Amino acid sequence: MVEAMNSRAGIGMTSARTRGRMVERLREQGIKDEMVLAAMGAVPRHLYVDQALESRAYEDTALPIGFGQTISNPYIVARMAELARHGENGQGRELGRVLEIGLGCGYQAAVLAKLAREVVSIERIAQLVGKTRARLRELRVNNVRPKHGDGMHGAKDFAPFDAIVVAAAFGEVPQALLAQLADGGRLVMPRGSATQTLCVIERQGDTFTERLLEGVKFVPLLPGVA
Ligand code: SAH
Repeated sequence: MVEAMNSRAGIGMTSARTRGRMVERLREQGIKDEMVLAAMGAVPRHLYVDQALESRAYEDTALPIGFGQTISNPYIVARMAELARHGENGQGRELGRVLEIGLGCGYQAAVLAKLAREVVSIERIAQLVGKTRARLRELRVNNVRPKHGDGMHGAKDFAPFDAIVVAAAFGEVPQALLAQLADGGRLVMPRGSATQTLCVIERQGDTFTERLLEGVKFVPLLPGVA
């Protein structure tokens, strides 16, 4: 067991370099927000996937995380974080409380946790919540609050949120989520099913302004819990 831990830590040493290369690639792909780039450089992505996939963790690719779900590629995680922070111009604002829908393996939550005071993250698959809660504890990510539930309803008890990041695709933006967005806050989510488009909705008072961005590919947002 100790040996296994050490060998993972060993990969951790070289992974700092590999992560550095990933960050350079993110810059080339157009990510400008230095805070987001720093967060991507700091979170050990290889420790969020199964050990068998560890060597592929820093490739620009989506990876399976079990239960038929996938972890998004590094670019889309960085892109969504940048959009949540209003970061298109190279800098963004500090985030207080952020809501993530679709905790999955916890990687994206851990990246958001570097950019926010607190991240509440809802996941509909109970077993995934248990596994990821243990992982986040082990990695000492203390400002992510995993919750089991249907994210379509948001997390009313913790609202309002400075940003809401939805990591699964759906045709419509759930009304409950819009209602839980703080004034000046942003919701980032993939819209559609077979064809999906990343969208950002910004709230100013009671006005919600939507922008459609690039095409993306996410697993579907499903109703209810499992
Ligand atoms: N952000 C995750 C990506 C996980 S993939 C990561 O970094 O690993 C999307 C996740 O959304 C899946 O785990 C899926 O179970 C979850 N999901 C789908 N519909 C949901 C819903 N209605 N409420 C909460 N989670 C949901």
